[in-house]
Amino acid sequence: MTDKLRIVPLGGLGEVGKNMLSIEYGRNILLVDAGIMFPESDMLGVDYIIPDWEYLQDKKDQVRAIIITHGHEDHIGALPHFLAEFSVPVYATRLTRGLIEVKLRRNRPSEPARIHTYAPGDVINIGPFTIEPYHVCHSIPDGVGLGITTPVGLIVHSGDFKFDHTPVDGWPTDYAKLAEFSGRGVMVLLSDSTNSDQPGNTPSEAVLNDAFHQVMREAPGRVIVATFASLISRIQQVVDVATQRGRKVALAGKTMADNAKMARELGYLEIPDGTLVTLDEIRHLPAQETVIIATGTQGEPTAVLSRLAVGRHRSLRIRDGDTVVFSSHTIPGNEELIHRVVNRLFQKGADVYYDPLSPVHVSGHASQEEQKLLIHLLQPRFFVPIHGELRHLKQHGKIARQVGIPPEDIAVIENGYALTFGERLEIGERVPGGYVFVDGARVGGIGPTVMREREILGRNGFVTCMISYRRKMGRPAGRPRITTRGFIYVPGAEDLLIQAEEIMLNAATVKPGTPAQEVETKVQEALFEFLFQETRSRPVVIPMVVEV
Ligand SMILES: [Zn+2]
Ligand SMILES: [Zn+2]
Repeated sequence: MTDKLRIVPLGGLGEVGKNMLSIEYGRNILLVDAGIMFPESDMLGVDYIIPDWEYLQDKKDQVRAIIITHGHEDHIGALPHFLAEFSVPVYATRLTRGLIEVKLRRNRPSEPARIHTYAPGDVINIGPFTIEPYHVCHSIPDGVGLGITTPVGLIVHSGDFKFDHTPVDGWPTDYAKLAEFSGRGVMVLLSDSTNSDQPGNTPSEAVLNDAFHQVMREAPGRVIVATFASLISRIQQVVDVATQRGRKVALAGKTMADNAKMARELGYLEIPDGTLVTLDEIRHLPAQETVIIATGTQGEPTAVLSRLAVGRHRSLRIRDGDTVVFSSHTIPGNEELIHRVVNRLFQKGADVYYDPLSPVHVSGHASQEEQKLLIHLLQPRFFVPIHGELRHLKQHGKIARQVGIPPEDIAVIENGYALTFGERLEIGERVPGGYVFVDGARVGGIGPTVMREREILGRNGFVTCMISYRRKMGRPAGRPRITTRGFIYVPGAEDLLIQAEEIMLNAATVKPGTPAQEVETKVQEALFEFLFQETRSRPVVIPMVVEV
């Protein structure tokens, strides 16, 4: 029996974020990317989400390598967690490697990771796979798509891409390589679906230059541009325009500063000498000669912009005449947080530009016409939409049908479904591929149950009640104590709480010898029932019956 090629998406299919893909042949596994996803607004207290790689646990010896397409968080963010469990070599381009190292230094400073640097155009042999990374345009330099030759055929993984003819770094997508792949025959194309609901072509990053020029020309004072710390191309554009308009630039936020320093050292970010100043220096310059690039476009409470909005930044204050520009897309679910920050910035006297008010952001992902072009260029036998919510994947499947791929050769699947490629494309069983929540230092310890509890606590609050109990006599000893949080405003609710104490005393008056545990259940039930009758709300009731 010959080995079959299997592709199993572990993240990024059915959601935007936490991309991770497993490509398998025989006893060889090649992984592509290991990203994070930001939590939705109902995932309380979750910092971020990483892919569920449970499926790989008993195949650790088969994992040959993990290859990274580019340095965005949704492609590298989970690496510190992944490398803590899997000791495998990482392959990345120079800038991506730099971003990974900044991240690893912060998360696991002691353990050196095995990172191999590759350049677009290289040929990398890993087990039965021959990988040919090719340059793509995206909103970060040094991103690639991958041609992966396997014993049964050529796979092309698009990475995140757009067809930008005037990219910030002057380096367009490697069309020649795509044509070459096509000449050899592409078995399967895995392509970025993020913007499959956008008609036409995604505008070039170059259109932002005009927008930034306009903002900086009209701004009466400081300009604060917020963007992702990993959007190196955007940082470059802001620096370019600022330099042309005679403004000095300061970077606010530790990740922003670390990334920029690294990208500058590697030559991916060009900042003329004398343009970059510190936040302290910028305070002594005339306001209209300054630009600050900061983190916090998603309203993250600890990022620079949110701290500015509430007046809690160490050295900066928002004031009249400031202009704040949100130069990034809104990750779905973050709208409320972002709008709150925008409103506060307005309150403090700033003028605020944000999507969709002005063209201060363009997407880094291909729209429909570019997606069609990629399919036409490669003429794949099979097509698998990747990177997107189910609606994006479905739409991308439709686009593939429109340009002539037969429906039976298109697999629209979500995380965890194993695809096998032979004469036909088969969709197999589903492996685990859910959410793994990261909350502070805890990984995976919190699941749906904890989420549900947090939701209940958040909605109705809690009531703890303590009572001493004499088992021999089957009766309470002394007055109970009730504490509430998030349930009722206590001043004004004294009557209710006194009645609640009576309910508890009654519930703890039982047959002599009754164990404390039974009394606890009785107290809990009686109190819950009483509070519901009185308030029509269902707080979490936590009883404590102490035997004396
Ligand atoms: Zn990306
Ligand atoms: Zn991405």
